[in-house]
Amino acid sequence: MINIDELAIMANRKEDENLRFRSYLKGHADPDILDRHFKELHEKYFKIYNCKDCRNCCKKLNTSMTEEELDTICNKLNLDKEELISNELDINTSGKYSFKCNRCKFLDDDNNCLVNSCLPESCRDYPYTNKSERLFSLYGVIDNASICPVVYEILEELKKIYHFKR
Ligand code: SF4
Ligand code: SF4
Repeated sequence: MINIDELAIMANRKEDENLRFRSYLKGHADPDILDRHFKELHEKYFKIYNCKDCRNCCKKLNTSMTEEELDTICNKLNLDKEELISNELDINTSGKYSFKCNRCKFLDDDNNCLVNSCLPESCRDYPYTNKSERLFSLYGVIDNASICPVVYEILEELKKIYHFKR
């Protein structure tokens, strides 16, 4: 397993190689077969990595929430929505809220997500490695390799499956 403290350094070292691998996949991979590999590896590595022991995405990425999701969370946690918006949240061009700082305020000091039962869609879907059409989202996949150890592992395994020469 990858040490989460070293992940960003390891992914940065691989950035050029990962970009070359992206171009290689564009020329060699069938989109549906690649999606199947992604989904199988997603399932394999999420059995090995437990998000509760990691929470790197909760610390490094801006969680985004719809108005409805924010309402649900505020009800669950008994928070004053207007106060939360004015003190902690920005609103983006698509009308979603996100925290002004990268670390999610719903993550407690013991790495527990306080809104577990009503997760925003952006948290449920991250890191998107089981979604369709990954061949057309490879820049995003490469970016996420420095945040999520599962993405890093998937990319490394795909290089072997596709006989990519480093
Ligand atoms: S809501 Fe929970 S899962 Fe989503 S970023 Fe915050 S702590 Fe992480
Ligand atoms: S970075 Fe990946 S492994 Fe870590 S908590 Fe997020 S989704 Fe789970």
